[in-house]
Amino acid sequence: MSSYISVFNPATEELIGEVPAYDVAEVNAAVERAQGAQRSWAKRPLAERRDALWAIADAVIAHSDELALLESTDVGKPLSAARQEVLGVAECFKYYAGVVDKILGDTIPVDGGISMTFREPMGVVAVISPWNFPLPIASWNIAPALACGNAVIVKPAALTPLSTVRFGQIVKELGVIGDALQVLTGSGARIGNALAEHPGVNKISFTGSTETGRSILHAASKTMKRVTLELGGKSASVVYDDVDLAKCLQAAPLSVFENTGQDCCARSRFLVQRGVFDEFVEGFIESTRALKIGDPLHGSTNLGPLVSAAHRDTVASFLEDGLNVVTAGEAPEGPGFWMAPRIVIAPDPKSRVATDEIFGPIASVIPFDTEEEAIALANDSIYGLSGSIWTQDIGQAMRTARRLESGTLSVNSNSSIRIQTPFGGFKQSGIGRELGQAAVEGYTELKTVFVRTDP
Ligand code: NAD
Repeated sequence: MSSYISVFNPATEELIGEVPAYDVAEVNAAVERAQGAQRSWAKRPLAERRDALWAIADAVIAHSDELALLESTDVGKPLSAARQEVLGVAECFKYYAGVVDKILGDTIPVDGGISMTFREPMGVVAVISPWNFPLPIASWNIAPALACGNAVIVKPAALTPLSTVRFGQIVKELGVIGDALQVLTGSGARIGNALAEHPGVNKISFTGSTETGRSILHAASKTMKRVTLELGGKSASVVYDDVDLAKCLQAAPLSVFENTGQDCCARSRFLVQRGVFDEFVEGFIESTRALKIGDPLHGSTNLGPLVSAAHRDTVASFLEDGLNVVTAGEAPEGPGFWMAPRIVIAPDPKSRVATDEIFGPIASVIPFDTEEEAIALANDSIYGLSGSIWTQDIGQAMRTARRLESGTLSVNSNSSIRIQTPFGGFKQSGIGRELGQAAVEGYTELKTVFVRTDP
């Protein structure tokens, strides 16, 4: 082990921890341990594997205060949100505990006999997770991968590793799965890349930026690894003239500014039909101003700081001269990497602010006239992760939903992610699907066995 990574609280800039910066030698050793552990984990009786995942869920609940506090101080997110996220991690393990004995195949009548399919474990899975929702996103991959009989090596983001490291310790102390789960901390470019290239790793599950996703895909291609990529987004909320404006405005601020905009599903483009445009803008500014920005540990806080000074600089670089920008709310002075929400009114839809993933508290509001134009604007993006449609006309909602190039959509809601339903992106927002039963396809190899019945 060569060195340590220092971890800071983005709300106070104080040092809150250190984790090892592992090197390639530790990756090799971890993969070897994982291979051995996977063989015995996959052979364990179904009921034991189910109970092990359920025990992890119970342990997460028992440690939920501690894990939520770590997540809040590491990422800078409100403690109340972190607590919900940690409880969601437990729910995810419970859901996949129930999946362990429902990994089904087909029987297929064929000439001369019967064919049947099995879903076999892939082997060793590396989960590389981002800094914005560290433990939830890791769990969406760890739980189904384990349920399907794989071993998992998790590499959390260097900026926010604390909750994942603590989770790894808690699972180790439980003693229910041994080395079938290991956590390795370190630099993405070094150990993340080493995992993507390692011939003993059978699958990479990566969540992060589209740029890093491209480099993972390249590294994984050398050994033809299976890959799931959950990448960036520039999701649109399409707001039609017949919207229930009160409901929409109640939801709008957190649909883009939750987690201080550091959310892959952030609806950072509001496409608003011209008949309701002015009223929407006015209401959106007002409802955003009502959000409380400040100490993440305070019960009524809605928005914390951005994750780092460097990230705040990147976000601020989108506020170019010539834009019509309204600052909605007041951010604390510092210490901490604070930034108040910004609403950019009617920018050029082709401009940087309206097309790039900003990953911070900046929303664009763009007018349109017709349904056709709204769909064209929404689809004019390299991304296709999420989005919302606001209308009271069910026909219009469903027409629009079917034509939007996006993996996850909601009508009259901002809900993107549920444990029971598939989640993932079209276009450069990713490859493959997480969550629900779809994750079983992502963590198993399909095997066909033919049995001759002809004499
Ligand atoms: P990132 O791409 O910088 O890092 C993600 C992870 O990859 C980290 O663990 C990092 O250490 C590792 N990494 C970096 N370089 C690597 C390399 N060359 N090889 C292997 N691993 C490497 O992303 P981030 O800044 O942590 O997260 C923000 C991005 O994640 C945004 O683009 C956001 O949209 C995306 N995201 C997507 C989803 C989704 O589900 N689609 C969810 C959350 C975040």
